[in-house]
Amino acid sequence: MFDKILIANRGEIALRILRACKELGISTVAVHSTADADAMHVRLADESVCIGPPPSKDSYLNVPALLAACEITGADAVHPGYGFLSENARFAEILADHNLDFIGPKAEHIRLMGDKIEAKKTAKKLGIPVVPGSEGAVGPDDDAMAIAKAIGFPVLVKAASGGGGRGMKVAQTSDDLMLALSTAANEAKSAFGDASVYLEKYLQKPRHIEIQVLGDGRGGAIHLGERDCSLQRRHQKVWEEGPSPALDPAARAKIGSTVAKAMQQMKYLGVGTVEFLYEDGEFYFIEMNTRIQVEHPVTEMITGIDLVLEQIRIAAGGDLPVTQDEVVINGHSIECRVNAENPVTFRPSPGKILQYHPPGGLGVRIDSAVYQGYIIPPYYDSLVGKLIVHGKTRAECLMRLRRALDEMVVEGIETTLPLFRALVREPDIIDGDYHIHWLEQYLAGQP
Ligand code: ADP
Repeated sequence: MFDKILIANRGEIALRILRACKELGISTVAVHSTADADAMHVRLADESVCIGPPPSKDSYLNVPALLAACEITGADAVHPGYGFLSENARFAEILADHNLDFIGPKAEHIRLMGDKIEAKKTAKKLGIPVVPGSEGAVGPDDDAMAIAKAIGFPVLVKAASGGGGRGMKVAQTSDDLMLALSTAANEAKSAFGDASVYLEKYLQKPRHIEIQVLGDGRGGAIHLGERDCSLQRRHQKVWEEGPSPALDPAARAKIGSTVAKAMQQMKYLGVGTVEFLYEDGEFYFIEMNTRIQVEHPVTEMITGIDLVLEQIRIAAGGDLPVTQDEVVINGHSIECRVNAENPVTFRPSPGKILQYHPPGGLGVRIDSAVYQGYIIPPYYDSLVGKLIVHGKTRAECLMRLRRALDEMVVEGIETTLPLFRALVREPDIIDGDYHIHWLEQYLAGQP
């Protein structure tokens, strides 16, 4: 097992990783920008190192500063969390060159899945169904029009290096295609430094359903069921739940075993998520994320498996915690991402938290790094915290969520709490009857 882990992240996920380290008896090193000197993960870590000024590129993405922090503190492994360097294959390789362990998959798998075109090709080879689309990258000079017509409009132009919903443009008809291609390529070039784009059939009313996997890197791999992340705004997840209201145990077992077999063949190491769109009873692979995800607590609540702790154990050479047969889905869980944003315009609302009361009680969990008096800096994401609720049934979970949302107090800044309080009372949400466009349509209909 590792002696000392450097946590190359901030906010709630840094705290989440710190908790797992403490339980495993591993010393922790927090890193922080000058803007985060008072952050909770810094206060609770055994040691901390300032790695630069507020902009991420100068601090949380600053590889030389992170290496120096490892060197100074004698850390033997780095946990990247999500975002920042978590899906940077080069970073994983640089750590290895410095005799440091990267708590994540093999660099080759990060690289493979980081290119969505290659990821789709790989998925297909491994027997995973994919969204119909172009075989590879397309440009305006190629036969993009012919390919799009063969797929059938509407089509979605997507960036090969895309993430966070950026570099994606819909072409409803052939008239829109050229503009969609150039806009998506430009957006991708400036966001990811890679202008390559590809085409996909634009599905009308799918759900976003993703399968959590865990692999030992030696050919052992299991799945831990699914999360339904269909409630999105601008392709960003807002509410996640598991099990999906749309799947029955047979459908879950079928897609789960397809995915687990693929991971066994890849000899995948650590935690990962295979994302699908699900429409009319069919699954279509869209991408794989080779890191711990924001919504991982949903799976923890219904399986009882501590994903971050197991991720660390597996990175240190440990075995899978359970066999596939031992995985039991217990009850229902919902996560709300409470952001520091205006609940109607979604304008970021950084600033000082004057009052803070996290809800509690049976089946209620808060993953957050804020506290009363904490100032949410304007430089990073706007997550205040994740409210995660568990119940024996979906109905009990919703009842508990309603109560917890009403109990939660965050004052001084604007938050998206009012949105969740409304959602949890919406008939479609109560019935589990929603798809990936539901939330935007709902928001468009609001006064
Ligand atoms: P990113 O990596 O930017 O998050 P994804 O490929 O994971 O991109 O897609 C994000 C979201 O965009 C999906 O959850 C879904 O809502 C929407 N989306 C992606 N591909 C399609 C598609 N072919 N048809 C319809 N919606 C899509």
